[in-house]
Amino acid sequence: MMRRQQSAPVLLVIGVHRDELAFGAKVAEGLDPNYFQVLRIEKGISGERPRHDQVKQFDQKHRDLYLQILQYLTPTTRLLIDLHQGLDCSKLRADVFSYNSFIPSNFNNLADVARDFKAEVYWYHLVEDTLLTNLETEEFPYDLVAKTPIPLEVWKYSRVPYIGLEIYTHNNGSGSTQEQQFARHLINRLSSMAFKVADIET
Ligand SMILES: [Zn+2]
Repeated sequence: MMRRQQSAPVLLVIGVHRDELAFGAKVAEGLDPNYFQVLRIEKGISGERPRHDQVKQFDQKHRDLYLQILQYLTPTTRLLIDLHQGLDCSKLRADVFSYNSFIPSNFNNLADVARDFKAEVYWYHLVEDTLLTNLETEEFPYDLVAKTPIPLEVWKYSRVPYIGLEIYTHNNGSGSTQEQQFARHLINRLSSMAFKVADIET
């Protein structure tokens, strides 16, 4: 991991999955350094599920990596965005994963960005357990829920809200200019939603 150079309110993590680093780096290049501190993970983990006999080791590595990321939060950090890349040949699309409630109440802000790019965006409420019986026992207003292997310390109990953002690109690698811009606009918009300040998009 690279040391932080300065303090900025958003810590953007790129390269947790090593095959996605090229895309993350391109996206990060176009962001305002006054707002975004980029944590570039040079030796990320594989995005593929491990072989059966390597699951335990993989899970531990995954957990350690995420717990390490927490060490890069400073008193001035107000949001953690963990950028990922998926593949979708049919449509430009983004999935947003978060436990924090500022997203559903402002979801239109994200939908507007998606519309500008003729893309789709989905928000998933992170939960510890997706068993239907558990979800049905309480008032549960969310359409989409997701479980995550990311440690609870990161997405639920951290002082700083966590957002996982997965951008689906047409191909592997650094992505097209449009895909990179879509990611940047969503990152900017999510940040402005989190801060409840004027949009920082340029
Ligand atoms: Zn990923």
